[in-house]
Amino acid sequence: MSEDHNSARLRRMAELRALYEGHVARFRAVLRQEPASLAREAHADMEALLVQDRQQPGAEAIRCNKGCSHCCYGPVEIRAHEAVLLVEQLRDEGRSLDLEKLARQSRYSVETWREQTAADQSCVFLGHDGACTVYEMRPNACRKLLVVSDPRHCDISRGEYERIERRFCWEAEMLESAALEVFGLQLMPLALRAALGGDR
Ligand code: SF4
Repeated sequence: MSEDHNSARLRRMAELRALYEGHVARFRAVLRQEPASLAREAHADMEALLVQDRQQPGAEAIRCNKGCSHCCYGPVEIRAHEAVLLVEQLRDEGRSLDLEKLARQSRYSVETWREQTAADQSCVFLGHDGACTVYEMRPNACRKLLVVSDPRHCDISRGEYERIERRFCWEAEMLESAALEVFGLQLMPLALRAALGGDR
């Protein structure tokens, strides 16, 4: 590795580290903020980073599109305040959730998620048309997952994980790593059940 390349890499790492620490400090300062507004701000922050990333070289290779929902069959970890926002949104719209499926999903971890029936592995917000029914309110974990390989590899039934290639928006990764540090992340079924108010 050339010296120039090495120092550019070190500079980039220092930049990302500073970003991460800035987010951690910012999040610690707003711990008591109302959860739904915290989630809205988190989503706006993430969108701003992803819009910027879309202007960068290589972003044209991103294959994720509406209706491609393979990643909605995996375990998704979200912030507690994102769950509160989702529940509030459902209540505002008079929509209900499949609570029985949510209860079944809650028994699984990231490691055991694939042991569920294929139907139960899908997110409770996934519509029959393969589109997310809470798209505007979807968690940051869903927003930042960008795939540049053939979307068919994302289909869990094909067992081709090793062929999946992701594009990492490192600024977005720093944002969510800082959120993990300050707020913690939980599997979506557990977070939703807590936001719904107890052991439903
Ligand atoms: S919230 Fe929407 S985008 Fe995220 S996993 Fe569920 S259906 Fe997919």
